[in-house]
Amino acid sequence: MTGYRGRFAPSPTGPLHFGSLVAAVGSALDARSQGGEWLLRMEDVDTPRNVPGAADDILRTLAAFGFEWDGPVLWQSRRRDAYAAALEHLCQAGWAYACACSRKEIADSATRPAVDGGLAYPGTCRNGLPPGRAARAWRLRVTDEETAFTDRVQGRQTQRLERDVGDFVLRRADGLFAYQLAVVVDDAWQGVTDIVRGADLLDSTPRQIGLQRCLGYPQPRYAHLPVAANAAGEKLSKQTRAPVLDRNRAAAELVRALHFLGQRAPVELALSRPAEVWDWARQHWDFTALPRQRSIALANFP
Ligand code: GLU
Repeated sequence: MTGYRGRFAPSPTGPLHFGSLVAAVGSALDARSQGGEWLLRMEDVDTPRNVPGAADDILRTLAAFGFEWDGPVLWQSRRRDAYAAALEHLCQAGWAYACACSRKEIADSATRPAVDGGLAYPGTCRNGLPPGRAARAWRLRVTDEETAFTDRVQGRQTQRLERDVGDFVLRRADGLFAYQLAVVVDDAWQGVTDIVRGADLLDSTPRQIGLQRCLGYPQPRYAHLPVAANAAGEKLSKQTRAPVLDRNRAAAELVRALHFLGQRAPVELALSRPAEVWDWARQHWDFTALPRQRSIALANFP
């Protein structure tokens, strides 16, 4: 092993579709081509969004496609104590604070859009809860310094968290821990050195880097792959009715994912077995051939 440790971290909100397959293939091959480990984490922390049976279905699909992960699957729903401890640490250090604002109050008082299409939190509860108000959520106090990093695929990225996002939620009003906190705590706890995932998460990376700094965690390397979009330019997802992957066509779908990632896999491999596609892909994985785009419409893709 080389000290490289990667991971794939699906959310069980539905079956795997071609877009998630692309992220899984890219992260697995980046890890294996460097003699690294590759872990699997089920991001089921947002329990109301979990679809019953989806996690098992994802695991079965990954196995049928010939993915081999190292060690047991990490389930975020079993990690709440770790997230609570991290939040406690952030509160003690003065980084996190309680917030009483409702969605409506934020909508009425916010003045700036946020990168994720929402509104940047205007900082109402930053200096303490208003008299008579109770804590609903917990937020991270961000700064207005530039957060910069160089993505291995997408190049240099910069954000100013206070301007572009605002103090963001770590624990929600419904008591659930936010993805941003869970992902950072788990990546550090699992010793992940390299994050390879879809470019839909590029804009949340500065938040994750901000949290890593507050928690004293090392910063992993990042590589954000283009996401697969439909003809309307929307990311493939359950909401956009992405077709479910056919386990009986695993080799063909793997070859299609490799082509999407700019790899010149021979088309005949589509008629072979997944193990043969993996053999080819491990030997020929070419990181420099990855398209440096945030999204690619499947309609424009053979
Ligand atoms: N669970 C996230 C998703 O399915 C991925 C998180 C990550 O890779 O950091 O979109």
